[in-house]
Amino acid sequence: MPPQPRPGIMQIAAYVGGEGKLAGANRVIKLSSNEGALGPSPRAIAAYEAEKGEIHRYPDGGAGELRSAIASAFRLDASRVVCGAGSDDLLCLLTQAYGGIGTETIVTKHAFAMHPIYARYAGSTVVVAEERNLTADVDAILACVSPRTTLVMLANPNNPTGTMLPWSEVARLRQGLPESVLLVLDLAYAEYLEDPRGSEAVALVDGPGANVVMTRTFSKIYGLGGLRLGWAYAPASVADVLNRVRSPFNASRPAQAAAIAALADTAHVEASRAHNARWRPWLVNALATLGIPVHGREGNFVLADFAAAGRDASEADAVLRGRGIIVRAMGSYGLPGCLRITIGTEEEMAAVAEAIGSFMAGPVKERAHG
Ligand SMILES: *Cc1c(COP(=O)(O)O)cnc(C)c1O
Repeated sequence: MPPQPRPGIMQIAAYVGGEGKLAGANRVIKLSSNEGALGPSPRAIAAYEAEKGEIHRYPDGGAGELRSAIASAFRLDASRVVCGAGSDDLLCLLTQAYGGIGTETIVTKHAFAMHPIYARYAGSTVVVAEERNLTADVDAILACVSPRTTLVMLANPNNPTGTMLPWSEVARLRQGLPESVLLVLDLAYAEYLEDPRGSEAVALVDGPGANVVMTRTFSKIYGLGGLRLGWAYAPASVADVLNRVRSPFNASRPAQAAAIAALADTAHVEASRAHNARWRPWLVNALATLGIPVHGREGNFVLADFAAAGRDASEADAVLRGRGIIVRAMGSYGLPGCLRITIGTEEEMAAVAEAIGSFMAGPVKERAHG
């Protein structure tokens, strides 16, 4: 018999990321991966380029300077910041370190796809908590807790739904969980919130129990997804665990340099936040005018419900592709009637609204019966 992976691995369906290319199209509008509309800070690009003569050198494995920059930007204890190759890296490490065969990890029904994937990879049993109006439901999560539960993963705001639990509800969740359960708060979109620090999540991490971790990323508002850099803010005991198991150089040299510069360019972050605050409502309104409702209110994306408008999301997707516009189909999330559209530049928003408008003005195709 050929080598076999651990039981359960072959039941994992591989993550399919947002596409970036269309056959035959030389210019595409990519609104499929929630990458920051304005791209990275020019200062981050300059810092990246300045590293090019040094890329034969290993990076600082402890990412000391970057952790200090993160700590001062967000007023955190640098010794409890752990960096990784995207927040994905840290989510994977947490599920490995705190999950495993015989344990259960609770995820929400429309959780970010990597949450259940990493839990399964760890060998944990994934328990799915129902939502209410596509929003995490604390009572449903608490009802899933068993003596085998070791992890609860919650993206707040959540991707792809754009919905968010009030922090008072997250605190109630923490209160209701056994103290042995680690609550992982995935704050990939925190910088788009009114409080970009994520103060309420920070307070939970710093609170009693040492049983809450927050993960963050440079992939969204900072526009550095291609460099792969994320970080966790954790209780000392959890940071210690992450530092024992992470790969020693999991944040590359150019990524660390670019991220430090990106943090320093607060004007660019502000401009990115203001851009989203303007164009997200603009797109929501344009869709509403066409009769298409949107779920959730947070993040740099909208979850547009074509089915609720009596239209087929995959037909809309095909029309958009025909015009060189790539958005994210939601079938893999169990939301086949929806498309997730990232907030892009002004021109990109005008183009996507115009294309959806012409799709909506077109004929409703007869559905095959049966
Ligand atoms: C994009 C995203 C991530 C992963 O980000 P990386 O830091 O690029 O790995 C994690 N969680 C959620 C909810 C996301 O949307």
